[in-house]
Amino acid sequence: MKSKLFLLLFMIVFSSNYVQAQSSSACGSKDGWHSLQKANKSFIKNPKYIKQRKKTANGQNPAYVVLSCSDSRTPPELIFNQGLGRIFCPRVAGNTAGDQVVDSIAFAVATWDVTTIVVMGHESCGAVEGAVDRLRVNGGVVDPDNGIFNAVLIPIERAIIDAGINVFAPNAVELATKANVAYAANQLVLKSPIIASALASGQIIIVGSVYSLSSGKAHQLFVWSNCGIEP
Ligand SMILES: [Zn+2]
Repeated sequence: MKSKLFLLLFMIVFSSNYVQAQSSSACGSKDGWHSLQKANKSFIKNPKYIKQRKKTANGQNPAYVVLSCSDSRTPPELIFNQGLGRIFCPRVAGNTAGDQVVDSIAFAVATWDVTTIVVMGHESCGAVEGAVDRLRVNGGVVDPDNGIFNAVLIPIERAIIDAGINVFAPNAVELATKANVAYAANQLVLKSPIIASALASGQIIIVGSVYSLSSGKAHQLFVWSNCGIEP
């Protein structure tokens, strides 16, 4: 009992020291948040979105899922010119299909009338470049101990290795970007029986795409349906 009490006391003292240490440095600026609040006011007043919120506030039935990179230049709602309630949109650096992403998409497919899943990579993706760089350094093998950002980079490294890409080739990043999209699409089907059966029944198709930062075009890499994969 005494030792528990001591532990509790220690934790209280330690956490109050931590708070003091935090507050002794200059406070972070709130300017960014204030800019966002101002922008949010315009969004609130925009008649287009007032209408869309009225339609969607009580429920959603998105037809599309887009798995996109977190990159600030690749927002699916803007790229595909869709408003609120249209795209279910898990975004993660490098548009990989980790467990949370797979289950989020499976939930969407099981719950709403989703017809199309787009896995969308993009040109000059920092995550893909990082994975290629790391494979160059590590002699083409996945080496979790020799690097950071493993959760983001390792799935991309696996996609690159799986596709047999020469990471020293001049177009390695371009090839890796495409391979990473195909790998993520495949992971969705392999990891989720819900997604696999929706694909097999023809409820959904899965499209692979690479987005061009300069032209704005979402290029089609492949269309995967219950009739097979076409370019
Ligand atoms: Zn990216």
